[in-house]
Amino acid sequence: MDLLRANLHKVRIPEPTNRIHKDECCVSFDTPRSEGGLYVDMNSFLAFGRDHVAWNFEKSENPVYLHIVQRRKPDPEEADRPLKKPTLLAIGVEGGFTEQEPEYDVTFEIVVLPEFISLPFPSVDLPEKVRLAVDKVILAESADRKQQLASWVADKKKISAHAMDLQQLDNGVIVPPSGWKCSKCDKTENLWLNLTDGMILCGRKLWDGSGGNNHAVEHYQQTKYPLAVKLGTITADLEGADVYSYPEDDSVEDPLLAHHLSHFGIDFSSLQKTEMTTAERELDHNTNYDWNRLQESGKDAEPLYGPGYTGLVNLGNSCYMASVMQVMFSTHPFISRYFEKQSLKAAFAISQADPTLDLNMQMTKLAHGMLSGKYSAPTQEVII
Ligand SMILES: [Zn+2]
Repeated sequence: MDLLRANLHKVRIPEPTNRIHKDECCVSFDTPRSEGGLYVDMNSFLAFGRDHVAWNFEKSENPVYLHIVQRRKPDPEEADRPLKKPTLLAIGVEGGFTEQEPEYDVTFEIVVLPEFISLPFPSVDLPEKVRLAVDKVILAESADRKQQLASWVADKKKISAHAMDLQQLDNGVIVPPSGWKCSKCDKTENLWLNLTDGMILCGRKLWDGSGGNNHAVEHYQQTKYPLAVKLGTITADLEGADVYSYPEDDSVEDPLLAHHLSHFGIDFSSLQKTEMTTAERELDHNTNYDWNRLQESGKDAEPLYGPGYTGLVNLGNSCYMASVMQVMFSTHPFISRYFEKQSLKAAFAISQADPTLDLNMQMTKLAHGMLSGKYSAPTQEVII
């Protein structure tokens, strides 16, 4: 306790404007759930894993830390709890991707470096300044979470610029209520009705060979007729109908859809939904439940672990970023620059005051996290 009192001038009470890090080490991917827990510097409010906190003491001479340890609560009912499947392509909002995590017990203590002297928290024996500062750190919203969980929702559909004055040809075309087929091939699914001439054509070919034969989009390229509706997505209330605008290259809203359909004799009050809309398809792909789409179908892929085989957790829409990072850090220049030729400690030593904002530090952290194998071990946890 005397040691703590002697270092009281090194403890700061956080101001509302301070960024407080308490979820992840700024030079590694250690968290309060890691074996050694996480140490929050009570002067700079930066966080460090057990292996790295001494580097911070060397560099900053800040001796007082809040040590946070989270350990998983035993949950006997866990096996029975169903996983909630997202219904919206979104993060952090109702219906979107959420973190479904088991519960954790959290414990705190005050640790004074370099000897790692530990003092219990909470405790009435602690100096008031320390109690106040630690309470504020615990209650504060973490800087990491502020960034990560900023809500994100896929763009809402816009009203098409081509809907209100769409020219429809008086060509006598009548579209039957069922039994559709592409006019140019044998496809009977993923069919699009062009709202200008009533032509029914198949959709785009997808990267995995599924989908259509591109006949609808080719028809647009020849005719420039802008709007098409996906057959099988039209229902009596027209709510979910999937209208695509080729010139706008997006799913759009057509406020005159009822009128545009009746032009071709379509009685939508009797139609039923038989196909997924583009938005549903996107969501379906993002939930990744069918691994055959992503992996070599029909082959037994063996999970790999160890250096260079570290996966990145998907936040719902971050798989694109993750794959770019995986590719970058499989190339020699990146491996050499940020892993072989630069240690974490060296990057930290030359990093600016806030290492979380230092590009070289963060690239080095990512390289070491992915290439060291430290975070690549067989896991039982379900990751969406
Ligand atoms: Zn076709």
